[in-house]
Amino acid sequence: MIKEKLAQIKKGKLTAVQNISNFLQKIKKENKKINAFLYVNPNALKEAKIVDEKIKKHGKAGKLAGLAIAVKANINVKDMPISCASKTLENYYGTYDAEVIKKIKQQDGIIIGILNMDEFACGASGETSAFGPTQNPSAPGLIPGGSSSGSAAAIAADFCDITLGSDTGGSIRNPASHCAVIGIKPSYGRVSRYGLIDLAMSLDQIGPLCKDVYGVALMLEVIAGKSNYDAITYDKPVPNYTKEIDEPIKNLRIGLSENFKKLCKDKKIYELIEKKAEELAKKTNSKIKNIKLNYIDLGIATYYPIVYTEFFSGTRKFDGRRYGKKIEESCGEEVLRRILGGKEISKAEYHGTYYRKALAAKELIKEEFENAFKQVDILLSPVTPKLPHKIGEKINVEDMYAYDAFTVLANLSGICAGVIPAGKINNAPVGLQIMAPAFKEELLFKVMRCLE
Ligand code: GLN
Repeated sequence: MIKEKLAQIKKGKLTAVQNISNFLQKIKKENKKINAFLYVNPNALKEAKIVDEKIKKHGKAGKLAGLAIAVKANINVKDMPISCASKTLENYYGTYDAEVIKKIKQQDGIIIGILNMDEFACGASGETSAFGPTQNPSAPGLIPGGSSSGSAAAIAADFCDITLGSDTGGSIRNPASHCAVIGIKPSYGRVSRYGLIDLAMSLDQIGPLCKDVYGVALMLEVIAGKSNYDAITYDKPVPNYTKEIDEPIKNLRIGLSENFKKLCKDKKIYELIEKKAEELAKKTNSKIKNIKLNYIDLGIATYYPIVYTEFFSGTRKFDGRRYGKKIEESCGEEVLRRILGGKEISKAEYHGTYYRKALAAKELIKEEFENAFKQVDILLSPVTPKLPHKIGEKINVEDMYAYDAFTVLANLSGICAGVIPAGKINNAPVGLQIMAPAFKEELLFKVMRCLE
């Protein structure tokens, strides 16, 4: 439990050095099997010692004092290999700290290492990394989910306290669900992306994963806020999330949707979600309401043209001239598919055909969610429409993309969404997705806490 551990570290009952060294030993012993870490920080113990000295000298330290934080390989950390799990950037070392990393360091968090992922965040299974798939510590043999596969697996395997992932269409929530951990995608504009190697600029957010709600809330408290380096961040005050999570909630208006039910391929998953909704309603003396969401089956068809187009544009800098290799000559199949697809639909002759139409559909989905949140406070849904497949199993592209049907909706509409374990079906962990209006993360946390 993060809260208790922090109290121990701040009192000197557990040193930061001990905390980090416990994790380092565990990583050393077990990471070969899990493949969650691509790199371990050789200076982690030294940095922990500085935090211990600070506590001894001043009797206090930052909000993340001595906690082990691991980072997805697409977020810049100075002097660490930020490969995006690709051969293209295999030898690229971060030349600066992303804004989120700066904030973590300011609060005395220790960056313990860099995590595996789907190559350039393109994927939903954790299998497209150029450095081998990540294994699922909570369900051996099954995919851990992606693209933040290492971020979820490292938490599930107890390799660190909190991780950072990125979520463009579900990449934090999908692996959180498959690995039975907690994760959130903050609202669009809540967290600075300065230093994130983008997949699709108009959808990306950085967010935390942890074993408990407190840890996720704490990390968001540290990394959220207006940035001078990311123009889409909003100048809204950052609530004291960790304080607010324990406030009781009553009389919620909980939303479910028949349209979610239709979209869910595995009926057992939906039954579990309904059960969780009833549990929440009972605990909080709330009512469940059925909401019509007529456009949500457009999610995938809207999301992918946007991602293809923006990814194509974003990858033009990887031309192999100043650093790294030329991306088309060094990347894997899925990344190449998106570059070639994005190049095609960006052509002048298709002006207004794909990207523009997708943006219009995005607006429709956004409006639909805005309307829904006039009728309910939160919406509950599955995270993925089916259970995770076995690692290595051949899956066609459409089926792989279909994993994202429930998660892309939050990115397309800019709202926040979190995932908390809901139970198991056929031994596979299944998460519950909670969606809340933009900038209502504190409500997400309270609901998650209630179900924790
Ligand atoms: N699975 C989705 C994709 O492949 C989501 C990726 C993400 O959120 N980074 O694009």
